[in-house]
Amino acid sequence: MKIISLLSLGIGLIFMGLLTSCDNQKMQTEINLKNLTPVVLKQEGTEIFQYWEFKNDSNLWTHHFKIPANIKSYKDTLENIFGKDSFNFHVQKMAYQDNSYQSVQTLNGDSINAQLVHSKMVGKIRPMQYLEAQLLDYQLSRYPLFSWPTEFHGFILTHDSLKLVKVYFAASDQPWPPKPNVILERLVEELKQGWTFKYHLHNHYEPRSSHYLGILAPSMADAQFYQFLFEDFNLENALITNGFHTVEINKSEFSKFKAHGNE
Ligand SMILES: [Zn+2]
Repeated sequence: MKIISLLSLGIGLIFMGLLTSCDNQKMQTEINLKNLTPVVLKQEGTEIFQYWEFKNDSNLWTHHFKIPANIKSYKDTLENIFGKDSFNFHVQKMAYQDNSYQSVQTLNGDSINAQLVHSKMVGKIRPMQYLEAQLLDYQLSRYPLFSWPTEFHGFILTHDSLKLVKVYFAASDQPWPPKPNVILERLVEELKQGWTFKYHLHNHYEPRSSHYLGILAPSMADAQFYQFLFEDFNLENALITNGFHTVEINKSEFSKFKAHGNE
């Protein structure tokens, strides 16, 4: 009797121990960029250039997570303006991707790029992932997307043997991100040290007339930039998020888009 109860106590303790260690692991990997001190490379007026480094973990690449506060408040605002159903409709419409998509004839390169994605010819639209949301939320904590729309640059590097992620970030208070020269200089060195330039991420938004939701496709300027990042820094994938979905474009597809310089 005594032996059995001691045994069950032992099993219970082991089980509790397992639960606690799972909890600890979860706590360690839930990166919150707003609470993580960045290394600042340069700051000029409202322009910031900085990076964070942390352990690579599968949680960074999941789309199951609690929406960070500033993205939630953007979502709540849009839901209030349009009503939940209409809002959901527009979110889904922006993420629509199917071979049956009816393209229209246009000479506008940005529109052609959007149609290439919607008709499933290029890129894959999927729900936004944890790390993407963290970067967007970080910028929205500086300038709320609804009242002060801005775009940021995120350069996401991974190191396989060190199992680390390094994220370079550039943004200002302007609708377009600042020129990331100081980051590109660092990138050259990082690649020599065994880092892989896994993703370039930026965000898109639209004015009220287009329901605020960003287009999940590269502009001609974006496509030109991706070609440059691929040729000079071996960028593997480009990401564009609108705060709900993200389009992921592999380097093998960059040249399929209309780009400035190769119209
Ligand atoms: Zn863009």
